[in-house]
This record gives sequence, structure tokens and C-alpha cells, in this order.
Amino acid sequence: MVSGMQVSQRTEINVEILRRDGSEAKPYRQHFRIPYRPGMNVISVLMEIQVNPVTADGKTVAPVVWDCSCLEEVCGACSMFICGRPRQACSALIDQLPDPIILEPLHKFPVVRDLVVDRQVMFDNLKRVKAWIHIDGTYPIGSGPRMNEKIREKMYAISKCMTCGCCLSVCPQVNDRSAFVGAAPIAQVRLFNAHPTGSYMKSERLDALLEDGGVAACGNAQNCVRACPKQVPLAESIADVGMQTTLRAAKRFLFG
Ligand code: SF4
Repeated sequence: MVSGMQVSQRTEINVEILRRDGSEAKPYRQHFRIPYRPGMNVISVLMEIQVNPVTADGKTVAPVVWDCSCLEEVCGACSMFICGRPRQACSALIDQLPDPIILEPLHKFPVVRDLVVDRQVMFDNLKRVKAWIHIDGTYPIGSGPRMNEKIREKMYAISKCMTCGCCLSVCPQVNDRSAFVGAAPIAQVRLFNAHPTGSYMKSERLDALLEDGGVAACGNAQNCVRACPKQVPLAESIADVGMQTTLRAAKRFLFG
């Protein structure tokens, strides 16, 4: 590692990448050295390696594979571990990173190849908790009911979730032995349950979270809060939804 002063004077960038040639292949590390240009981010570093896939010891290798789309920290596709922290490669500026820059695929998700992971489980969990408002679009229904401004403001913070998966990648409860849905889907339940139109499916969402892997599986480590690049109020949302599921369970017990 080098200090901030040394980093700003660098003429080249050292990059260490944890690679894997396929989902069943053994992982290995490769070191690249590329010329420094001001204003680079991790995506531009990866593009340099793609154009000239030669390791620091001069070996020509297969180009490194990664995912990206919006390049403005909105889609979450380029999420990966950068120097030990889950974040988006598009917003990770080289001038703010130590040397060497260590890139690893997002933890907890199956690796497809190199830095590409399969985040399908997160989308499956959003389906599992019905994180949507069901509108079939076949006829105009006019504008929806107005939300209380204070609630709207709180829910806006949750609506910023981009399904990047960073919160799941640091959660000790997300593992092979657990069906835990993770923080992001739970926060989305809070969002859609608070919506005047979405609330008609509130019971179904809470029933899903009363099942195995639901809100009770959260261990309250709160790593998700520190990892979320959008500052989604995850711990607060899990607590809120935990309360909603308790009330739902009591209602089911009393009234069937
Ligand atoms: Fe990413 Fe935050 Fe959404 Fe989790 S809650 S998926 S960390 S944006």
C-alpha cells in the first residue's frame, strides 16, 4: 500500500484481480500494471486491461471479464469488491484508491467468470416477497392516492435501492446454510407496504417474510448498513418490517 501523496504521483497502476475461468474453475490471482492517466476509474482500468491483456510479468492472458451498464452508480451491474469493500467500479476513482488495487467478484454470489457474478437469487427473493405494485396496464387508473409527505420522504430513501447486492455480500446470515432473503428485499417490503396502492398486498408480503429465511433470520450484524452505497435505511427498515410481521403473526394466530 502507498500513501495518498505517493498515489497522486503515480505513473502506473498496479492491479491484482481474483480471476476464475468459469463457475466450476479454481480461482487464481493475476497482477497487471497499466499506465496511469488522471481521472481514471476502475472501469477504465479494466478497459485498459481488456485492450492489452498482458500481466505485469509479460504474459498474454485472456481478457478480464466484468459487468457494467449505466456508469453512473444507478444500475449496480459493476458491483465488485474493490480493496476489500463492496462497491461500484464506475464510481471508484483511482486517485482515491491505494496501490495495488485489489479487485474481487462480489462475495456470496455464484461467480460466472472473473468479476461477473450471478445475482439472480436477489431477484428471486424480490419475487418471493412480492416487491412490486400489481398494475396490469390494460386501462388507465388515473393518479394514485397522495402519500403523507413525511412517509413519502422516508420511502424515497428506500426507493433508491439499485439491487446491487452489496448488502447481501457482507451479511453473515447470507450463506449456503440459510434461506435468508437479505436486507434489500426486506426494505422493499417496507416501501411497498407503505404505498397506498401497494398496501393491498401487505399481508402476502408479510406472510412471505414469516417463512424460513424471512425477517427473523436477520442476525442484526448491520454490515449491510455500512455497505449500502445508497444509504438505504436498512436496519431501520428491518426493525419496522419485523414489527409488521409480529403484528401479522398475532393476527393470524387470533383470527386465522
Ligand atoms: Fe445495494 Fe443498498 Fe439496495 Fe442493498 S439496499 S441492494 S446495498 S442499494
